[in-house]
Amino acid sequence: MPLDPQPLSVLSARLGAENIRTDDDARARASGSWSPLYTKAKLASTATTVDAVAVPGDPDEVAAVVQWAKEHQVSLTPVGGGSGITGKDDRDPARGLVAVDLSRLQTVRWDEESLLVHAGAGCVLGQLEEQLNAHDYTLGFMPQSLHLATVGGAAATNLVGLLSGRYGRLREIAAGLEVVLANGSLVRTQADPGAGAAFDLQDLLIGSEGTLGIITEVSLRMRPVPEVRAWAVFSFPTFSDASEALRLIYRSDARPAGVRLLDTEAAGQRLAAAGFYAPASLLLLAFEGDELVQTGPYQVAYAICQKIGGTPQASEIGENWFEEERSRTDWLAPNARAGGLADAFALSATWSTLKAVHDATQRAMAPLVTHLDAQITHAYPTGAALTIVFEAQAEPPTPEASVRLYERIVAAGLEAALESGGSIAHHYGVGRTRSGYFRRERGPAATAALQALKAALDPDGLLPPV
Ligand SMILES: Cc1cc2nc3c(=O)[nH]c(=O)nc-3n(C[C@H](O)[C@H](O)[C@H](O)COP(=O)(O)OP(=O)(O)OC[C@H]3O[C@@H](n4cnc5c(N)ncnc54)[C@H](O)[C@@H]3O)c2cc1C
Repeated sequence: MPLDPQPLSVLSARLGAENIRTDDDARARASGSWSPLYTKAKLASTATTVDAVAVPGDPDEVAAVVQWAKEHQVSLTPVGGGSGITGKDDRDPARGLVAVDLSRLQTVRWDEESLLVHAGAGCVLGQLEEQLNAHDYTLGFMPQSLHLATVGGAAATNLVGLLSGRYGRLREIAAGLEVVLANGSLVRTQADPGAGAAFDLQDLLIGSEGTLGIITEVSLRMRPVPEVRAWAVFSFPTFSDASEALRLIYRSDARPAGVRLLDTEAAGQRLAAAGFYAPASLLLLAFEGDELVQTGPYQVAYAICQKIGGTPQASEIGENWFEEERSRTDWLAPNARAGGLADAFALSATWSTLKAVHDATQRAMAPLVTHLDAQITHAYPTGAALTIVFEAQAEPPTPEASVRLYERIVAAGLEAALESGGSIAHHYGVGRTRSGYFRRERGPAATAALQALKAALDPDGLLPPV
């Protein structure tokens, strides 16, 4: 339902007319994402847009937008950098829809003594990282969308980066949040140092994808830039051998700062330019710290890889791969071509189910795609994130046929993952494309509990549904 201009003029009076946008460009920008379905809808000129964009300048103005939405029963959708790839399900056909663009929330405050930086939700992570680096600090976790994603979007999706082994994901990096809840109240959570004995909103809000509140500021734990990053690179005859080496490394205390295990297809596609041609799986391990700290773990991991039959390769392969991979965006480019499709499913599995999940998803997806590879992107003592990357070509090469093929690939891959004991949303959020499958993974009782929580925090259903 289109939004009445009259209530919008009330909001305009509160935020300033220049901060309420209704022009086509602003509405399209605020509605955009990197989801394949959105790219196809754009190609077919069927992409829907929000009715207006509100650009509040501080947390009180965010609260005012929420109060206004409550009074006029308008739906809201928070917008960060628009780099989400799973799409959003935020339109209630019975209501107007306004995007809350957080890009003016750019304040950055430091507490160097406590290694904390308090950053406005609209700060782009890459710009914040550059500011920190200039003072020899880092957030360290290095998501591939560093130059696209915002601090608020990172918290809303529990972002994870290439160096998650040392720095953790956003949940571990966040020391506190400032949030406007759906009832319009402004709350601040404080998790540092060590507050954790009580029931806290913070864990609930991180990863809630804008369904429970609008994040206005995140307090982040920063660290001094490490003196050294050293790479150990091994090739293995099979993906299973390399994954066994990784399991044993994570069983020991030799935790790398970052890991990437590329199967033969991924190594062939990504590493030819870095000088690696062998038909083998490749395990890249990054270690960070001062020289003394990184020597022990490095050697333990090295010895485990050799014991499992790994062959050492040049460490430059790891360095070059990291430099290229850390801000690669071209892997989603096929979506913009007629009939082209590309995406990645960020699955996860315990070590005892990983092989079954890997084999089942490969079997189910292979007949539908033109490229398929498997990578372990993050690892833990209990299991790992298995990212399945694919490309496909629809016939006829139209947006409609691409959407049909995409839905078949999603169904094949995610069904296979669930049936073989995997989890379907290690990162990238759940969004629209994964929500039905994630509800199944959670089960009806957990879904009902979360919906009850959502109803209590957002009784008017102003924010997107869970
Ligand atoms: C090329 C590429 C590489 C990527 N690499 C990674 C990666 O390495 N790791 C990873 O985890 N993800 C990755 N992503 C996915 C994406 O970058 C993350 O999900 C990111 O956290 C989204 O942040 P954003 O600011 O762009 O949020 P948006 O895309 O604008 O929004 C994402 C979701 O968060 C909600 N949201 C945004 N801001 C707020 C706020 N202030 N308060 C409440 N809700 C909010 C939105 O409503 C939406 O549901 C990648 C995406 C691309 C395109």
